[in-house]
Amino acid sequence: AAATTANIGVVGLAVMGSNLARNLASREGNTVAVFNRSRAKTDELVAEHPEAGFVPAFSYDEFAASLHKPRTAVIMVKAGAPTDAVIDSLLEVFEPGDIIVDGGNALFTDTIRREKAVRETGVNFVGMGVSGGEEGALLGPSLMPGGSDESWVTLGPILRSIAAVAEGEPCVTHVGHDGAGHFVKMVHNGIEYADMQLIAEAYDLIRRGTGKTPAEIADVFAEWNRGELESYLIEITAEVLRQVDAETGKPLVDVILDQAGAKGTGAWTVQTALSLGVPVSGIAEATFARSLSSHLEQREISRDLPGPNEGFTADDADAFIEQVRLALYASKIVAYSQGFDEIRAGAAEYGWNIDLGKIASIWRGGCIIRARFLNRITDAYAETPDLPVLLTAPFFVDVFTRAQDAWREVVATSAKVGIPAPAFSSSLAYYDGLRAERLPAALIQGQRDFFGAHTYKRVDKPGTFHTLWSADR
Ligand code: NAP
Repeated sequence: AAATTANIGVVGLAVMGSNLARNLASREGNTVAVFNRSRAKTDELVAEHPEAGFVPAFSYDEFAASLHKPRTAVIMVKAGAPTDAVIDSLLEVFEPGDIIVDGGNALFTDTIRREKAVRETGVNFVGMGVSGGEEGALLGPSLMPGGSDESWVTLGPILRSIAAVAEGEPCVTHVGHDGAGHFVKMVHNGIEYADMQLIAEAYDLIRRGTGKTPAEIADVFAEWNRGELESYLIEITAEVLRQVDAETGKPLVDVILDQAGAKGTGAWTVQTALSLGVPVSGIAEATFARSLSSHLEQREISRDLPGPNEGFTADDADAFIEQVRLALYASKIVAYSQGFDEIRAGAAEYGWNIDLGKIASIWRGGCIIRARFLNRITDAYAETPDLPVLLTAPFFVDVFTRAQDAWREVVATSAKVGIPAPAFSSSLAYYDGLRAERLPAALIQGQRDFFGAHTYKRVDKPGTFHTLWSADR
């Protein structure tokens, strides 16, 4: 059996787990035990990284024996049944007070269920969202741990040491109890879907409206990345657009099949929002836009539907690009506002005490949606912690003041010339929906009362009313 020399262990040594293990091992004072179901990955990791001083284990017994108490293990395996299998195996060798962290992409309701079951054994269970992909795991991810306060005492210092750092602060916080961390990670991914779709719509409009090449549009994004839109996604967009296919010499973006994949976290965000009654329309449109793109057969038979096909040329290319930039910024604020609305509603539903401003600040580094403007979200919640609608914070109102004309212009243009811009337009409709003094929801209440006697309320007196609608008028 291995000596009891490690202070933390990692189970699951595919790309995420091995990179996280290397990140942990690179920090002063850590000795990392590593274990994988099949031996090959463990052997390979230990052989390739002698500098890490890993303590390899080849059974759960050895793994447990190699860890100091309270034992701390981070699971990085496929989400779903594999995670349950690993938890069960760890529970056979762990003792009360030990800590099991699930760093996989678990659905938060699974995390709530697991936390409850594991807690009964006296072992602590922490569901932790990990963002930043493989590079983040190695060099510094954004970490969103849930779980008990007791686990956080042990985990806090370790997680702070491996997380990304943004403006001097580690990108990790104790998000809230049980499934709070995975919930917040889920919404992070939903916002990521919206952000990516908005950028894609901006690219499409600029390409079709100005005739610029992908490489020229790369310059536009690189320029945007030096201003208020500065973010990782804008930065990599420039790189993707600049890439040339080695085989054909064409821009790579023109060679890549236009069917967007998805691993399901966008859909989870939308499904959860639907059950919480939170209108995350921008995130939903972004998720649906991916699924529309993937239905090649439907797209094929729809190609001849009537509509404008002649394309368009913006009168002033630079002015149009600036309008698109403002439309992107305004729509992006809507996506974040909707995401934070969902976190607020989730916290209320599940009894989590989530510091929304802190969430924005731990997303400034390490994760895919890292962006300069997250500081403004932190500021907004610092000023008004219970702000009901994020986009009404003064800083964002200033953005809408200068962006909304351009936003409307871009959405109108896209509709007129037949370029799909679902995220731009649904974000604008959400914005105008919030602004409206009266909504046609009154008519819907009338319809509901008509066919189902669902009753309605009145603007001029309290109470619930039903009209005896005459059927023979
Ligand atoms: P993965 O492909 O999701 O999972 C492979 C790992 O799971 C292997 O170590 C495999 O062991 C293990 N595994 C599968 N079934 C198992 C079972 N029944 N019992 C024990 N172990 C089992 O690996 P990954 O891409 O590194 O991701 C790990 C986790 O991190 C996932 O939950 C993923 O969603 C999450 N995540 C990924 C990213 C990313 O960018 N890739 C970012 C954030 C979070 P064997 O070698 O024995 O097959």
